[in-house]
Amino acid sequence: MAARIYPPVPWTTLMILGGPMPVSGDNAAMNTAQPARVPFDTEQYVHRSREGPCFICAILAGHLDDHHHAVYDDGDTIAFLSRYPTLRGHCLVAPRRHVESWVDELAEPEYLTLQRVVHRVARAVAATVPTERMYALSLGSQQGNAHLHWHIAPLPPGVPYHQQQLYALMTENGVLKVDDASQAALAEQIRSHL
Ligand SMILES: [Zn+2]
Repeated sequence: MAARIYPPVPWTTLMILGGPMPVSGDNAAMNTAQPARVPFDTEQYVHRSREGPCFICAILAGHLDDHHHAVYDDGDTIAFLSRYPTLRGHCLVAPRRHVESWVDELAEPEYLTLQRVVHRVARAVAATVPTERMYALSLGSQQGNAHLHWHIAPLPPGVPYHQQQLYALMTENGVLKVDDASQAALAEQIRSHL
């Protein structure tokens, strides 16, 4: 079994991030915009990422589409809601073509085309959910989730400083409790701003 990358986060921390415990001050503002966070099975996710097929190519092949709600598709670039969001409105933008390095495999025009979509989708997300700051970053690993993708993640207002930036994106700190119906409605809202 794959080793856990990060130590588990205590339940008390998950509750501060938006769980069922009553909160006050800055956290209360976050709660109004975000569903509660629930624990995430990081080990199972890591195993699936490393042992399974490319999840983006699988989505494009018509698999896994029950949980990945599309917000954009122009034939070259797609965007869809994260299946495991840590921030409401978290989207992934990816080229349809299976490329892994935006530095080595994308010529400048193709890279700029991708970034144009990142910008467009980010503006649509910001028009849909309260956004104090829009995060955009490309992660992935050659050992899993290798297909190039850009994360677009809107930080809502009121998140305490130490819970912003990478902390806000780590599934080890729990993921939002969302269902397919609410995600489908959210994707439709985002699409309406594109
Ligand atoms: Zn792929």
